[in-house]
Amino acid sequence: MPIAVVDTVAELRDLTGGVRAQGSSVGFVPTMGFLHDGHASLIRAAAAETDFVIVSIFVNPLQFGEGEDLDAYPRDLERDCEIAAAAGADVIFAPNVGEMYPNYPAELDVTLAAGSLAKSMEGEFRPTHFDGVVTVVAKLFNIVGPCRAYFGEKDFQQLAIVTRMTQDLSFPVVIVGMPIVREANGLALSSRNKYLSSDEFDAASVLYRSLYNAAVTIENGERNRDTIRDQILHSIAVEALVSTPDYVEIVDSSTLEPAGQELKGNLRILLAAQVGQARLLDNIATTA
Ligand code: AMP
Repeated sequence: MPIAVVDTVAELRDLTGGVRAQGSSVGFVPTMGFLHDGHASLIRAAAAETDFVIVSIFVNPLQFGEGEDLDAYPRDLERDCEIAAAAGADVIFAPNVGEMYPNYPAELDVTLAAGSLAKSMEGEFRPTHFDGVVTVVAKLFNIVGPCRAYFGEKDFQQLAIVTRMTQDLSFPVVIVGMPIVREANGLALSSRNKYLSSDEFDAASVLYRSLYNAAVTIENGERNRDTIRDQILHSIAVEALVSTPDYVEIVDSSTLEPAGQELKGNLRILLAAQVGQARLLDNIATTA
């Protein structure tokens, strides 16, 4: 049976209200669609841990900056429905922009602002991005109601910000972080990988390789932050098709505070780089 697709807030509220009234738990996987196995891993986890799984598909204009790829962002609802259903979703919530933002393109009058966690890394290069993310995630949480919500570590800074938002604003939601799903060559799965030519796809594997080698170097005893950053930058510089990264940051994995010159504790190394038309993110955990 084809999976149900709901496109209004009222209908989704009715559905989840009914599910909860029967004593069933709700799992929620927010996405921008063009689903891949990274998304499917979140859906499978939600299906294993909750009774009724909602996958939202909404390309949120608020989180795109001027000149970014809002219009080009890949979309394929039919294929998304097949992937979501196969992974165990019960319903797709696919509102149009007018349903989420009735006055669009007029700006919302009331929005959320992401705080200090949103200032560095992605926030430095996409200054309005995380405000758009927290605003749409807050709306989605209000629409879906109490649930377990699944997010990928692929967007590690986003996961930290959404976790903080949920605590700070007391949303009745449990945030679950899930590991990064990768291609065989190590490249993190991303809807934006569709923009890559096959040469770019091969070249982009340097991002994970350089992170992995850096994590191994740290685990073998190297403690100098700049040595590690230089190692990553040098290995990426070898690939002509990969731009100089926007940033390579080593941070405390729970606070996102930049690591000091002497590395210690549980760390996350994060980077972003342009490869052809795609701006790609990746990160890795390591311990010093
Ligand atoms: P997006 O559709 O890009 O907004 O992603 C929706 C959710 O899927 C976010 O929580 C992402 O972090 C997560 N996600 C995207 N790619 C991956 C991946 N390769 N592995 C795990 N989770 C992912």
